[in-house]
Amino acid sequence: MDDKKKYRALLLAGLGVVGLVLVFVLQPERGKWWRHSGVVWATEYHIQYYGDRDYSDSILEVFRRVEMSVSAFAHESTVSKINDNRSDSVDAVMAYMIERSHELCRITGGAFDPTVRPLVNAWGFGDDDMALPDTSQVDSLLRLVGIDKVKVVAGKVVKQNPATQLDFSAIAKGFGCDEVVRMLKRNGVEDCLVEVGGEIAMAGRNSERKLWRISIDTPEYSADSVSRASMLAFSMSDCGVATSGNYRNYRTAADGTPYGHIIDPVTGFPRQTDVLSATVCAPDCTTADALATAFMVLGLERSQAIVDANPDVKAVFITADKSGSLKTVFSKNWSEGKR
Ligand code: AMP
Ligand code: MG
Repeated sequence: MDDKKKYRALLLAGLGVVGLVLVFVLQPERGKWWRHSGVVWATEYHIQYYGDRDYSDSILEVFRRVEMSVSAFAHESTVSKINDNRSDSVDAVMAYMIERSHELCRITGGAFDPTVRPLVNAWGFGDDDMALPDTSQVDSLLRLVGIDKVKVVAGKVVKQNPATQLDFSAIAKGFGCDEVVRMLKRNGVEDCLVEVGGEIAMAGRNSERKLWRISIDTPEYSADSVSRASMLAFSMSDCGVATSGNYRNYRTAADGTPYGHIIDPVTGFPRQTDVLSATVCAPDCTTADALATAFMVLGLERSQAIVDANPDVKAVFITADKSGSLKTVFSKNWSEGKR
């Protein structure tokens, strides 16, 4: 090969390398980790996902849609109108919530029941600030309780008793997390974690290409501050995780006894069991959220029996013995690590 040909070959090779480098450098960015946080439904949310664009507007739209259906704090929401008998129309979110509530009430033997609302209010956890109810008031309110008294027929809610009211606070956050994950997945996102007030729905892997790391707080009563000390951490993905505990939201009776915001729909009274907090992992966060609330009502033994009967559900309970020392109890199928 003469010098001229050699020179031309080298030049072409050089141009090829430069071309390749340019292709890589100028290629539009495929994706990155996006992180958003803020306040929704009087609590914080934290969301992260790997994607090619910012979905914060769509996330807020999902929150708004859920709120306008199930938030009892929004006067014009579907649930507020149903509770006040201003309308019997049911939107898609409400139809799903009522349908899931029938199923979740059945699974928990009645411990999860959104018709508990009049009792939640009577015990001072709703929007009315009343004196504590006595047994006869509780008994008369119990007549309004039972999701079996609420049906959806041809897009309209039918309440056996017009005074029956719905409270979806025990599943709204979990459902909100599920809805955001569904929206992100519809847009091609594979890796994400959505947390609203401690309830979490997740998919895929974290930014280190590992399972998502979840931490459970130590349950501690504190009037003016909430302890965030971690009791336990574990890794998982493609599921929902929710925690319930009376320690976060409680009132104090005249004799100084604290009582929680979770009401037993069977007795109508706030329920204090051996379980201080229940963390549930389920295929979706709506289920996890409902079960975690129900497990606070049911106590350790009955909750364990429900987990045993539902193989796609796992749970961790934090209990206290008589001396007050905390104990972590895992469901039999727990395989995620115990520290
Ligand atoms: P969570 O924080 O998810 O455990 O939900 C607790 C909230 O759900 C309470 O503040 C009440 O508004 C409502 N609630 C209380 N008891 C029950 C129950 N047994 N079933 C369904 N919702 C309940
Ligand atoms: Mg719940």
